[in-house]
Amino acid sequence: MTLAIDEARLSWEIDALAAFSDAEAPAVTRVVFTPTDLRARAWTKERCEEAGLAVRADAVGNTFARWEGSALDAPVVGTGSHIDAIPNAGRYDGVVGVLGGLEAIRALQRSGFRPKHSIELLVFTSEEPTRFGIGCLGSRLLAGTLSAETAKKLADSDGAPLDEVRSKAGFAGELEAVKLPAGYYKAFVELHIEQGPLLEKQNVPLGVVTRIAAPASMRVLLEGSGGHAGGVLMPDRRDALCAAAELILAIENAARGSGAIDTVATVGICDVFPGAVNSIPSRVRLSVDVRDTNLERRDGVMRLIDAAARGIAAKRQVSIQTEMLNADAPADSGLAIVEALSQACRKYGFEFLSMTSRAYHDSLFISRIAPVAMLFIPCRGGYSHRPDEYASPGDIARGALVLAETLAMLAE
Ligand SMILES: [Zn+2]
Repeated sequence: MTLAIDEARLSWEIDALAAFSDAEAPAVTRVVFTPTDLRARAWTKERCEEAGLAVRADAVGNTFARWEGSALDAPVVGTGSHIDAIPNAGRYDGVVGVLGGLEAIRALQRSGFRPKHSIELLVFTSEEPTRFGIGCLGSRLLAGTLSAETAKKLADSDGAPLDEVRSKAGFAGELEAVKLPAGYYKAFVELHIEQGPLLEKQNVPLGVVTRIAAPASMRVLLEGSGGHAGGVLMPDRRDALCAAAELILAIENAARGSGAIDTVATVGICDVFPGAVNSIPSRVRLSVDVRDTNLERRDGVMRLIDAAARGIAAKRQVSIQTEMLNADAPADSGLAIVEALSQACRKYGFEFLSMTSRAYHDSLFISRIAPVAMLFIPCRGGYSHRPDEYASPGDIARGALVLAETLAMLAE
């Protein structure tokens, strides 16, 4: 089997898809279920049909393009990513995994390869949280980690319910039916730009992802007592911001003290009320984001933060309430897929790094129902989610080639 990627065609397709945008080039804005997104979906579907793939979409718009294998009932080998883009993004995030996945399938077809397991390209709905406030909407529903019942309560910022928006977009049927049956996948591999600087810095063309980190996020509300900055003397104060300052440092210490480089904690929001120079802060709202590749370690950090909050509340006589917003578990890649990816790299003499994905992707949720792994290619400066996001045609083609080889090994 000799595989060849049509680099020129793949580059042309990536540029053509970027033209479906609500922002001026080079920026790409493509929010799920907008007319622009629907036109981009129709265009992508045509490309898949042109390749002879059978295309179907589920009730939330996840789109499957299938190359039927010879063993009809055997579990599927999946690949794919997303084509939605946050406002003012670039043209490669997600798209490389979709169009690169399609080109990998076409390369296999051209080589004369015939899969035993069906190979399916999957275009996930709404990986980005832009419209409905939740990332990886499509993959969460496929995996069943988000129930149809909860999904039905989602609405966009204009108050339009998900159910209404999706049916207007042409995706009918029950959300309950989106969840894939157990054992649907044999394996799922996602090709993606790194969205970080390591590959470029180390001048290595490929990254085989062995773990995907996952965030836990929490909202913290601290309430003390306000008053005049001159009138209330220090022994009588219950300053909510001073308590918050102690808590923020405790959060930093908890992450630093975990003993692992993969543990990171961030307080990104600190809202102070009433926010006046001569008024003692009576109320503070914090956001906390803790990520790790190891669930126990991450949950250990969350427990330390909780304990610190209780201690600070007692010492400073303020109330501290914590609310967990989400706590997705990290995932380890499937060993057989990592092995196939590594073998494919070695076959072509491509150097690769074993790496951790520090952003999360649809693969994180598919990992709940199937073995997954990801293949990273470099992106300039590690930039992503901005108009100057860039991956070179050569790097993209190399990724598609290794993906094709890996799909062949898995589908044999
Ligand atoms: Zn992405």
